[in-house]
Parts: sequence; structure tokens; C-alpha cells
Amino acid sequence: MAKKTIADIDVKGKKVLMRVDFNVPLDEDRKITSDARIVAALPTIQMILDNGGSVILMSHLGRPKGQRKAEFSLEPVAKRLGELLGQEVIFATDCIGRKVNQKVTALKPGDCLLLENVRFHQEEEIKDKKAAEDESLRKMKDEFARQIAMLGDVYVDDAFGTAHRDNASMYTVPAMMEGKDRVIGFLIEKELKFLGDALNNPQKPFAAILGGAKISDKLNVIENLISKVDRIIIGGAMAYTFFKAQGRKIGKSLCEDDFIEKAKELLETTKAKGCELVLPVDDVIASEFKANAENKVEAGDIPDGWQGLDIGPESIKLFVEKLKGAKTVVWNGPMGVFEMEPFDKGTKAVANAVADATDAGAISIIGGGDSASAIKKMGLTHRVSHVSTGGGASLEFMEGKKFKCLEILDDK
Ligand code: AMP
Repeated sequence: MAKKTIADIDVKGKKVLMRVDFNVPLDEDRKITSDARIVAALPTIQMILDNGGSVILMSHLGRPKGQRKAEFSLEPVAKRLGELLGQEVIFATDCIGRKVNQKVTALKPGDCLLLENVRFHQEEEIKDKKAAEDESLRKMKDEFARQIAMLGDVYVDDAFGTAHRDNASMYTVPAMMEGKDRVIGFLIEKELKFLGDALNNPQKPFAAILGGAKISDKLNVIENLISKVDRIIIGGAMAYTFFKAQGRKIGKSLCEDDFIEKAKELLETTKAKGCELVLPVDDVIASEFKANAENKVEAGDIPDGWQGLDIGPESIKLFVEKLKGAKTVVWNGPMGVFEMEPFDKGTKAVANAVADATDAGAISIIGGGDSASAIKKMGLTHRVSHVSTGGGASLEFMEGKKFKCLEILDDK
């Protein structure tokens, strides 16, 4: 069932506690190098302010591991958010405590307050599994969440990047706000629309492109997609585990030997279920793992002493062909070592092919992480339907996992 959004409730005169993902990149001088995540949260924030609510924002930044560390302070974010909103953003130097309570009490409709990094408290990241085994940890996490939960009349979650986690601010806080409105923001609404529609109600033909280093990371995704997609196109080092499973020689290419049996099984199950598994037909192989290393194209076995670092030109042609006519395309993971020239060609070609498929009418969804950064770097963001804001979260979503911090929120 669809989740209630901030547009479905009345926020007038209410204090809206909103979990956002302001985990922005900062340089050594604590200058924000990309404000994309702040910009992405603006529509939901602005909607609350325009409708007479006040906003209490909370987020994590980096990995301070439960310690108060200046380099992970959200203060620069408050400043940038104020510039973007064109109004003062009040900053609280903690996310719980007397001073925070005073600032929240003083909030007037239209005011915006940003709390300090929730990860300055170790309670934020106590796993629910651990808390269930250890009463003192559960009490710590609950008490921390209780202090945050009492700040708001309404809870809004707009942090898709952490939606797969059971952090206190993501799950325990809304759990403690039962009886109050608990809804999603526009960012999460968009993620659920694209990822949810693609997986539950896809336009066919549906093609998935998976790449990256490890088959083990994407196994659950492949298994979940087999019955949903018409074809799975595989590139990146993942392909070499499949090659080895087929009895081919792969030189010193990256391979997960522990997953060869699993790869054999997948070659069989995809065939049995009528899902086409498309593997590269040639590779760019190199003598060393470094930029501009001696390299050549190899269509057969990879000789000893060589390693595959990218898909080859014939594979690019094949993959482009296999994407033609697709009505839904999901892409997660690079086709090669795209961080090093000239092994970025396969990833770039696939990025262009996904954009072309979108121009031709496909809904295209780019999983977070490397594929998202390739699309952004190539200036193709506006030629695809959706670039997910969550790397790990989008992968877990594609695995078919349920996110308990979203399940707890109100249905329409
Ligand atoms: P993942 O985190 O599993 O999505 O993997 C992303 C990483 O896989 C990137 O850093 C790529 O450089 C790496 N990668 C992709 N293809 C290869 C390859 N053929 N050999 C080694 N690393 C690769």
C-alpha cells in the first residue's frame, strides 16, 4: 500500500520532526563540496514552512562513531540551508537535551531548526538485534529516541539513503510517536514510486544491468530479479566468476571462488525461468591493475598473467543491442574499473545506452553509488528517469527486502 506523504496531512501550527540525509561531502576546511543532498530535501521542507508548520531537521554526517567531533558537525549545513531557503536556520549544538528543548519550544510557524549530528551519540547506531539481546543497550537506545521523539508533533522521513538501517532516528523515534502523523517526504515518495513500480509493476521488456566487483554483493538482487526481468546483463568483475563457472580461463581477473557453485546455479535457474543472462563476449584485459596499463581486447579465455578490467567493444555492442526496446531499465554497478582510464569505456557506453533507451521511452532507474556517480559525471542525470539517492538502500530494495522504518509509517 502507498505511504502517506507530507502532502496528505495538515501541518499548520505543528512542529514537524523530519529525518533528512544531509550527509554531504566536505573538504578539509569543512566547506561543502556538493549541496545536492540539501537541495534534494528543499521541496519537503518548503512545503511544511509554507503551510504554517515549523521544521526540526535531524541527520547524520560521516562516521563520528558516537563521539562529538568538530569535523562532522552539521553547522556548515545549517548555513547553506539558510542560504537556499532564504531564511535563518536555527542551529542546535546537540540533538537532545535542555537547550534543544528550549529552542524547540521557542519555534514559531515558519521557523526551521537543524539539530546537530545524531551520530554524535552512540545510541543512534545501536542495532535492534543487539538491543534485543542486551537490556541496557535497549534502554539506552529507547531513552535517546524518546528525547528526540518528544520534540515533534509529526514525524517525516525523507532520508532514503539510510532507510535500510534501524538507526534510532530512523526507526525507534517514529516507533515512539505512535498516534501522531508519521509520513514520508517527497524524496522518499519518488524513490518508492520508481523503485517500487519497477519491481512490482514493471513495463516490459524489463532489463537489469548489474556490474561491480563482487557477485556476492548482488546475489540476492539477481535472485529477486530473475522472476521479474526479461534479461539480466552482467558486466564488471562479477562476470569473471560466471566465466569460471562456465569452465573458462580468466587469468588473474578478480573472481570469488566461493561463489562459483552459486554462479553455476544461477546460470541454470535463469535459463529454467526464461530470464536471459547476458554475459560479456569480449574483455579489455591488462597486464597490471593500474591506469593506462598495457592492454588489449580478448574474446576468449584470458591468458595467465592478464586480468579483465573492462568489457570489450563487442560486449558494448551486444549490451547496447540488448537494451534496445526495453521499457524498464535498472542499472547498478560499473562495467569495469571505471575510475581508471582507459577502463572506463564500458561503463560510459552503458550510461549512454541507458540514456538512449530512456529517450526511446524506457523508464530508467540508476542504483546509487558508482553507477549514479558515472551518470552524474557524464552529465546524463536529466536523460534518465531516476537516480536513486541510496546506494545500499536501493540495492536492498532490489533484493526485495522490507524496510522496517518505512513499514512503521502511515499508509494512505
Ligand atoms: P561494487 O562496489 O561491487 O559495485 O564494485 C565497484 C567497484 O568494482 C569499482 O570500484 C570498480 O573499479 C570495480 N570493478 C569493476 N570491474 C572490475 C574489474 N573487472 N576488475 C576489478 N575491479 C572491477
